[in-house]
Amino acid sequence: MPDQRALFFACLSVVMGCDGSHSPSPPPAISTSKSLSQNVPETQESMNAHPWRSDPALAGMFHPEYPDDLQVIVHEGGPRLTQARPELIWVRVIGMRGTVYVGMLLNQPHQLTHLKQNDSILFLAVTPINKPYLVTEKYLRERSEWHIRPCNQCGMPDLFDAPSDLQAKIFPGVPSDAKMEAFTSFCPLCGGVQLISSSPFDEVPSSH
Ligand SMILES: [Zn+2]
Repeated sequence: MPDQRALFFACLSVVMGCDGSHSPSPPPAISTSKSLSQNVPETQESMNAHPWRSDPALAGMFHPEYPDDLQVIVHEGGPRLTQARPELIWVRVIGMRGTVYVGMLLNQPHQLTHLKQNDSILFLAVTPINKPYLVTEKYLRERSEWHIRPCNQCGMPDLFDAPSDLQAKIFPGVPSDAKMEAFTSFCPLCGGVQLISSSPFDEVPSSH
């Protein structure tokens, strides 16, 4: 029987290889605003209305002809909580909430049953080496209460699951209102190791 985790990442690489590493087909024309935004020189007004276009965190990621469209890793959770594989989907950025981007799915995911074309999603773009990735409201709420040491292989600084959901899955005997001091999890992108801690890592007493 194949190792489930290995299978997950193998599938992820297949999915992302198909949609991500070959020259992408342009996103579908589904809105009238596209014809307006396409090939129109940037003005200060349009930059103010679309601040993400000049956001350094998204530099180089937008489709050359569609300045609000980029590829985002969408998912329904990490490998511990779902067998559905992440997919790389074209997303149109439609807003920002602080450092969180709001986007709309331009394509129908192949095998993610809870997401469909035109759904709005939230996503983050934290490191230049990881593609932007979907985050949930629940994850964002909990994110500030935990400290995540990035993946030891790819540097992924976030989880695909809310820490409380991960904790409940890994430690089913721990009451839901209790918080583990620290635990490890598999990186949802590459299978490396991430460390999740309820206290800052620099609070660990030093040896002197
Ligand atoms: Zn990783």
